Amino acid sequence: MISIKDVSKYYGNHKVLKNIHLEIPQSHIYALIGPSGAGKSTLIRSINALESIQEGEITIDGVQVHAKNTDINKLRSNVGFVFQSFNLYPHLTALQNVSIAPIQVKKENKEQAEEKAKALLTSLGLGAKISSFPGQLSGGQQQRVAIARALAMDPKVMLFDEPTSALDPEMIKEVLDAIRNLASTGMTMVVVTHEMGFAREICNEIVFMADGKIVEVAPPEKFFTNPDTERAKDFLAKVL
Ligand code: ATP
Ligand code: MG
Repeated sequence: MISIKDVSKYYGNHKVLKNIHLEIPQSHIYALIGPSGAGKSTLIRSINALESIQEGEITIDGVQVHAKNTDINKLRSNVGFVFQSFNLYPHLTALQNVSIAPIQVKKENKEQAEEKAKALLTSLGLGAKISSFPGQLSGGQQQRVAIARALAMDPKVMLFDEPTSALDPEMIKEVLDAIRNLASTGMTMVVVTHEMGFAREICNEIVFMADGKIVEVAPPEKFFTNPDTERAKDFLAKVL
């Protein structure tokens, strides 16, 4: 469903993605891990056309992400993106944050969009917070609103770039639980994470990146117990 073929990206002369190949089947969950500067964010952002690429091709369900004639709004409504920083609208309530894009972008009926937003927020444990503004919510609660906002567009794919890195330790679990529940619904997901235990538990494949390249792709059990490359062994020695 997500097909990444021979993708390269440059910043000036600096090649930050080097001939990336990756096929992510429907309902599979892939973790992107690796050292800082490896290109994880650049790669996941290019899946959603938040970054341009200079070579290769990315398709989602056959739609070419970077083709000139691709409807970028339509594409993005199929691909939910959750960032490290929650990026909520500070002047809108949780309910409004979640319902605004379905109303404005997908032209959904306001009442229906708000009903759906309420149901999503409730399913994420935020039923009592629908009228709260972001500034009145904890980091973990704000991140769950951000997840609800992405889900409100009925995406086919969810992308997460370090969704828990900005959170205090006690709030990490509630956000990981939300992602875990989503995993059990069969959502196709790509998650950049430093939470190795989480990656090991929910992901079908671990994609280990370093220096702009995919160094190793393996199921979690294999990757964490017996990686093929020295580069991965070094990395795991530092983070586990
Ligand atoms: P981290 O774990 O620290 O988030 P990452 O794996 O997500 O790292 P990227 O943010 O994708 O790494 O960065 C990959 C490379 O691209 C780095 O060398 C970085 O310095 C470079 N880079 C990222 N954004 C830009 C930019 N806007 N201009 C120039 N270089 C950039
Ligand atoms: Mg990053």
